[in-house]
Amino acid sequence: MKNRPIYLDCNATTPIEPSVCDKVCHFLEEEMGNSASRTHVWGTKAKQAVQNARQQVTEIVKAKNDEVIFTSGATESNNIALLGLAAHGEISGKKHLITTLIEHKSVLEPLANLQERGFEISYVPVGEKGWVDPTELKKYLRDDTLAISVMHVNNETGIIQPIEQIAEVLNGHSAYLHVDAAQGFGKDIDSLQNNRIDMISISGHKIFGPKGIGALIVRRRGFKRIPLQPIMFGGGHERGLRPGTLPVPLISGLGEAARLALASHKERKQKCLEIRHKAVMALTAIGGIVNGDSEKMMPHVLNISFPGLDSEAALVSLKDIVAISNGSACTSQSYAPSHVLEGMELGEERIQSALRISWCHMTPEVDWDGVATCLKSCM
Ligand code: PMP
Repeated sequence: MKNRPIYLDCNATTPIEPSVCDKVCHFLEEEMGNSASRTHVWGTKAKQAVQNARQQVTEIVKAKNDEVIFTSGATESNNIALLGLAAHGEISGKKHLITTLIEHKSVLEPLANLQERGFEISYVPVGEKGWVDPTELKKYLRDDTLAISVMHVNNETGIIQPIEQIAEVLNGHSAYLHVDAAQGFGKDIDSLQNNRIDMISISGHKIFGPKGIGALIVRRRGFKRIPLQPIMFGGGHERGLRPGTLPVPLISGLGEAARLALASHKERKQKCLEIRHKAVMALTAIGGIVNGDSEKMMPHVLNISFPGLDSEAALVSLKDIVAISNGSACTSQSYAPSHVLEGMELGEERIQSALRISWCHMTPEVDWDGVATCLKSCM
């Protein structure tokens, strides 16, 4: 887009892939049927499109087609995963859940709601490295632990959490494992294929797909389904867990985005690594300190602090060159310090001066030296 700064806020939302856009438009304009209509060809075509998208989503995590519940996005998926277990927790007397201090608000707030309803929540600290230690998490496990909710990739730091090792420490325990994979689905592939993960939340608009669509993947344990209850009622769609007419255009777009992600995640990663290299070189040269463990970071995100810099002032200075943020878009209306960086105990100066920069394979060439010069003038 002409006369706009370069978009470097891909963790807030990604641009859409052209073929995804074509799919969405096709199902908006031409195949406009309701996938629940059984009596004509429009319904049949729409249903086929939904089935196809289910297959494309499941291929990434190696789940089965009937284990995908389409939702409006990862926020809703997280709400269903956590609040949907409440009735089972109450009946079985399992009223303890474990999470981390760096989760997205769409996990922390449903958990706060459960706490008000008499559940107990344990928050595992993460420390400066930004990832939760599985052996630390294990110490919080109790006989009455109902579920563990740990994110796949942190939205502010890009740190990949050790999901497979967490699954391992849960061996022999019945607690359900929920993973908010909004930021890692289709990007970091292997860890989400682990069968011990019971529920995975995903979002279309973080993988070059449309906004307003996501899914909760709910794996069976053997032949047994997880005792999830719906949080909305009316219509019985999506195995009774998420009622409402399915948004076929958005679902087809999500399917296409998932297909592309699986086919090209390696090339995308390579492109992102090249950008990362240039960004790190230019920004550490002016005193930037990368937040979190660089060894466990996604290649398209950099959370970096510049001691002495006021991040709000820097955003204003940079606004004609690059579009970046100083935290999650969901909390960017408030000036409260980032709960993620606070959870990592980085200290006030590093937290106040932190910037989040996130790009993707579609990002054009960035003048990193120009960005560095501009930042330096703010210090
Ligand atoms: N979880 C994480 C980690 C996220 O980054 C986001 C989006 N910022 C969400 C959940 C919510 O996703 P959605 O916008 O699809 O509701």
